[in-house]
Amino acid sequence: MNKNRSATNQAELTPLRELCARIGGDPLLTQASTGNSSIKLEGVLWIKASGEWMANAIHEDILIPLDLAEVKERVKHKVDPAERYTRASIETAMHAVLPHRVVLHVHCVNTIAWAVRQDAPVQLEHQLDGLRWQWISYVPSGLPLAWEIEKVLSVSPDTDVLVLGNHGLVIGGNDCGAVEDLLSQVQQRLAICPRQAGPTDYAALAEIADGSSWDLPDDDAVHALGTDAISRAVLSGGLRYPCQSIFSTSSTRGLFRSVPCPDPKDQSESRYCTRPFLIIEGCGFIVSRTMTPAQRAMMSGLARVIQRISSSAPLRYLTDEEVANSSSMIASRYRERADAIRHSSAP
Ligand SMILES: [Zn+2]
Repeated sequence: MNKNRSATNQAELTPLRELCARIGGDPLLTQASTGNSSIKLEGVLWIKASGEWMANAIHEDILIPLDLAEVKERVKHKVDPAERYTRASIETAMHAVLPHRVVLHVHCVNTIAWAVRQDAPVQLEHQLDGLRWQWISYVPSGLPLAWEIEKVLSVSPDTDVLVLGNHGLVIGGNDCGAVEDLLSQVQQRLAICPRQAGPTDYAALAEIADGSSWDLPDDDAVHALGTDAISRAVLSGGLRYPCQSIFSTSSTRGLFRSVPCPDPKDQSESRYCTRPFLIIEGCGFIVSRTMTPAQRAMMSGLARVIQRISSSAPLRYLTDEEVANSSSMIASRYRERADAIRHSSAP
């Protein structure tokens, strides 16, 4: 890349960095390193690096340049570009096949609360009426998702909003302003008022945590997972989106089941010592001190989604096969990055 071109590109990247930082700072749109963004500039696909947090877009170099033609060629030959460019987002193939200059993918809490419903396509027909949107049923991230998007675009080429079943939202546009405007329209239309949860029993939680390896979370919103009976029921049914698998790839189901409020004198710490967190019925939520910042952010997002799912909603849980097939890569990538953050922030 020559010097002038590189300078132009850097100037064009600034609005994207600023947009990423705004989105990364909103827990209703992105959690930890989830979500990604890209811009296509003169044959170069600038895409968010895997594991980076959008929130850090201003101060860290989170965008990496890839040759767009080369990436597209790989997708055509059924080779996932994220396997070749290991630093690139796992959704690189998706960004390459979308024709828009700017593409944004977010794990928008309000969108996910709709996208986990079995009747989501029908419900969204009404909510998003008038927008150029399409529904994509759940497929794993990477090549399968890119191929589904190509299929939809071949029938509806003017699409600029995609709702991904059990996953999130994708918006495309010619520049960052257009994308942000469209994002705010979709957010307004899909907004759901979170259910009111019961009061958190901070005294009981503090007693359990006292002198143990447990801690209270920084984000008070997470306690709703324990204090709201509907949330506990929704959560115990299974996984709704692959990000939840950041915690485990095998025994995740039991992990999200709440436990009765333990007597601090009994052996609750040793009984639950392998768990990264405990959802305590009628009390709230405690976390293991070893839980990474990424995992904590994911729980914050999850609690916000669950608080927006009604008890009568027909939910589509991920099947065991989908969890096994799709999430191990995501989980290992998040864990890798989470470990890196933990080590780098260690004194
Ligand atoms: Zn995603």
